[in-house]
Amino acid sequence: MQKAFRLAKGSLFFFGSGDRTRTYDLRVMSPTSYQLLHPALCFAHFFIWFIKPNELPNKESTICTSFNWDCKDIIRFFAVQIKSQIYFHMSHRAGFVSIIGKPNAGKSTLMNALVGEKMSIITPKAQTTRHRILGIVNGDDYQIVFSDTPGIIKPHYALQETMMHQVSGSLVDADMVLLVTDINEKYDEADVMDKLKNSQAPLVILINKIDKSDQETVEAKIAYWEEALKPKAVFAISALHDHNVKAVMDMVMDSLPEHPAYYEKDFLTDRNDRFFASEIIREKIFKLYEKEIPYSTEVIITAFVEDPTLYRISSEIIVERDSQKNILIGKGGEMLKKVGTYARKDMEEFFQRKVFLEMFIKVIPDWRSKKNYLKKFGYED
Ligand code: GDP
Ligand code: MG
Repeated sequence: MQKAFRLAKGSLFFFGSGDRTRTYDLRVMSPTSYQLLHPALCFAHFFIWFIKPNELPNKESTICTSFNWDCKDIIRFFAVQIKSQIYFHMSHRAGFVSIIGKPNAGKSTLMNALVGEKMSIITPKAQTTRHRILGIVNGDDYQIVFSDTPGIIKPHYALQETMMHQVSGSLVDADMVLLVTDINEKYDEADVMDKLKNSQAPLVILINKIDKSDQETVEAKIAYWEEALKPKAVFAISALHDHNVKAVMDMVMDSLPEHPAYYEKDFLTDRNDRFFASEIIREKIFKLYEKEIPYSTEVIITAFVEDPTLYRISSEIIVERDSQKNILIGKGGEMLKKVGTYARKDMEEFFQRKVFLEMFIKVIPDWRSKKNYLKKFGYED
């Protein structure tokens, strides 16, 4: 109180306008009036300095005539500001929620459903997701940072090792872990349970794809998971059909720790447009080709030019062998043309902009096992 008083001492304020102008001289004000007005006055002083710095040298700042406001309005305005600041600091909640599980369990589908945007590519094939991708959900008083991760497997080559590092990384800073399991998975989740040993975060199990099952199986699975891992909660969901996803969201929201936001409130992800462009092309390759082609392919965006009316995107599709290059191109270039057409359409929807897309194919023998290429393609920190 003493210190605050010194800050404002000597200031003379005029509130109101015209006939209703009133003067408050802090040197003669009664203690009660001073206590009532003081926070608003300090704020006003700062506010004037902030908005109109040149006016502050006059000790007698005329708030109302500068802004044409009534005294009541000013006090209300500052009261709201102060309240919202206190509210922000007291009850803002934020946290990291890691989505993990075996390949194809529906992790990316779930993340997209939770975030309400298509951030992660989804295909019927396992190991589509190679990176940890953040999907951020923002509200006035909360921020949830979801991590979609690659499916947990025993790595066979260097690329898969880096994918498993991404999973471990996401567990380290998680405030909660959502373990997604497929209802039809045959109780073969030892790798997943092994990974979870390193996590201290509360565990919630989501039994997914219940649209492809029956009540009895669902109940048996719930009992199994409750016994096996003693989780904080178990939910039976269908990420694809948005069944029970809201219940998961509500539970996550209720469990968030009190914390300021980790990212700017307008951030939806940590990835940039180039990343999404390459992921969209990769998704088409996963959908259109069979066997080893999708797994041997990487997509690099070599140019991304933002013209006022369209994005000009150039890409390189990397494969491991000449034979794969031929398959990718297809007879008379038909297959590659399909990739380009589907990818461009999706990009136009994603970026809400016309897209001009170029694709070139390049062979780099064995790139998936070469650390230098993995680093170059963004798989190593
Ligand atoms: P991830 O590898 O764990 O990220 O799995 P994805 O999200 O890529 O999904 C793998 C496949 O499962 C895709 O074909 C999805 O459409 C499908 N899928 C995901 N969730 C559900 C669901 O709730 N029900 C059914 N029937 N299919 C689902
Ligand atoms: Mg995925």
